Amino acid sequence: MKYRVQVLAVFFVLCSVAYGAQIKALIIDGRNNHQWKLTTPVLKKALEDTGLFAVDVATAEPGEEGLKNYRPKFSAYQVVIDNYTDYPKNEPWPAETRAAFVEYVRSGGGLVLIHAAASAFGGWKEFEEMVGLAGWGGRDERTGPYVRFRDGQFVRDTKPGKAGHHGKQHAFQVTVRDPKHPITRGLPPVWMHTTDEFYDSLRGPANNLEVLATGYSDAAQGGTGENEPVLFTVRSGRGRVFQNVLGHGPENMKCVGFIVTFQRGAEWAATGRVTQKVPADFPTAEKPSLRQ
Ligand code: ZN
Repeated sequence: MKYRVQVLAVFFVLCSVAYGAQIKALIIDGRNNHQWKLTTPVLKKALEDTGLFAVDVATAEPGEEGLKNYRPKFSAYQVVIDNYTDYPKNEPWPAETRAAFVEYVRSGGGLVLIHAAASAFGGWKEFEEMVGLAGWGGRDERTGPYVRFRDGQFVRDTKPGKAGHHGKQHAFQVTVRDPKHPITRGLPPVWMHTTDEFYDSLRGPANNLEVLATGYSDAAQGGTGENEPVLFTVRSGRGRVFQNVLGHGPENMKCVGFIVTFQRGAEWAATGRVTQKVPADFPTAEKPSLRQ
């Protein structure tokens, strides 16, 4: 019976693809302490290259008026790709936009956060809850614990301290901690990520959080000496949230490991499934792999 249900599910997915019913995705940007004008096209292309997504972009226009009028139609999409931070003034979105965003995720919308996106909006409790872990923005032990990898398990560490830090940019290995999750299934257990800015010491409520992959934050590179969460999910209400903390800029996003985990994470956030195959140019444990 279960098999029949699975066969039917695959059949319906194939039909919807055949008839061009693509996943509706929205990238949000317009403010960021990173190069959003360069990274949004990279993210858009990565989604479109799969053939699975129809992608729109909602950009907050500059200035006070631009922010006041920022009202993306979240509910018209299956997945929102967050490439936005509240830089440089830590200004919140309009109350109506915040409420619509919370309702979108609570009622089952998908959310994907790239690199710095989760560090926005420090103190916005609902946002902190849905992103699970984040850095900066005044966050510390009041925001929630660090999540530490000890004896093969993830544990909460409530010791006082700031949230968010990174050492020097360098290449590092990413280790899959849950090979059964749809996003990580079939990936090599360890793969080399290209030179990137590697976040450590993230904190948050970490409720309904699952770490899919970590990277070793080398103290010799200014890191913590800990296995830091790199890919993780949060079940927030009925919504599926995926964070990929990699991808500081367009050069770092050339890593096939970043591209593929982003593409798969976006499909999972939208549908709860991943139909994409792992490509042949995926990095190995020793060798990064870049697409130009
Ligand atoms: Zn960065």
